[in-house]
Amino acid sequence: MVVILKPEVKYGEANEIRRNIMERYSEISDIKIVPGEEVVTLQIMGGAERSIDPLDIEGIEGVDRYIPVLEPYRLASRKYHPSNTIVKVGNLEIGNEFVVMAGPCSVDDTIEENAKHLVDAGVKIIRGGAVKPRGSPYSWQGMGEPGYEKLAKAGQLVNLPVISEITDKTMVEMVSNYVDIFQVGARHMENVPLLLELAKTDKPVLLKNKDSATAEQWLLHAEYLLAGKGNKNGEYEGGNPNVILCHRGDVSFDRPEFRNTFDVAKITYAKQNSHLPVCGDPSHGTGKRCRVVPLGLSAIAAGADSLLVEAHYDPSIAKTDGAQTIDMKELSYLVRKGEEIYNSIHGPI
Ligand code: PEP
Ligand code: MN
Repeated sequence: MVVILKPEVKYGEANEIRRNIMERYSEISDIKIVPGEEVVTLQIMGGAERSIDPLDIEGIEGVDRYIPVLEPYRLASRKYHPSNTIVKVGNLEIGNEFVVMAGPCSVDDTIEENAKHLVDAGVKIIRGGAVKPRGSPYSWQGMGEPGYEKLAKAGQLVNLPVISEITDKTMVEMVSNYVDIFQVGARHMENVPLLLELAKTDKPVLLKNKDSATAEQWLLHAEYLLAGKGNKNGEYEGGNPNVILCHRGDVSFDRPEFRNTFDVAKITYAKQNSHLPVCGDPSHGTGKRCRVVPLGLSAIAAGADSLLVEAHYDPSIAKTDGAQTIDMKELSYLVRKGEEIYNSIHGPI
């Protein structure tokens, strides 16, 4: 990494800035002062780059800019882990076969009936939210623990694994009793205490992007799950390797027609820059039932390994997110066509 000094800082004055930076980071082995035509630069040696926050260095008098050289994430990066990671859930291998996770937005009394329809539609994992972080405190917030219990029972009934959202670090043990995959929702992508608690387990975690996060921030928060709590010597406490990245759309400037902007380019970014399996959520990604199937298929064409879809045998009675909930006919079509596209991309050429 390189620090560019302001033009008025002369070569002889750079030593003070060098000393200031050396004292902050024990990992720095040396800093070379490089004279230049117009400005002096500092070249930092040693493994400190990922612990440096550019704003800390740019706060030092005489520093103009800090330029990092590496991506801020390492464990999530394909550069250091070229082969695809496969996340095992029961007999399923996410990252190695096409997997549709589907079910109602929220768990209610229809979940068992839904489970029977979902299995017939070819779904391999059942979804359903028991805690529903909503836009308004006056909206229904989900069933809580009885909802997780109902979802787990529905999964057992049809012999399929289940996925459900978790919103707080204090819930990990309880939720772990009921789900096969923890879902971390868009609102909680940056809930670092939750990520660090999930990093202590080895149960798969599906990490959605926050609607206003950059692709890099999304992967950097997956890094929290993979690394656990890092310390200054670059050692980690814990770390959960079973992470699935889920794109659920970005903030839209064109509401209410588009609840979010489903950006398939982010799916290609996640596949190319990371080795983790990638999931697309065209339901939250679009907000409208009529767009779920086409955008779901586009996600697979872009390289997604799996889909997370809101579906109900009767979307009219879905308790939440009905407008983006597809019925079983549409879901069966999505599973079948999705499988075809997936196989044509991942099969032999
Ligand atoms: C959900 O999956 O029901 C959900 C709340 O999604 P998101 O976190 O993407 O808004
Ligand atoms: Mn929903």
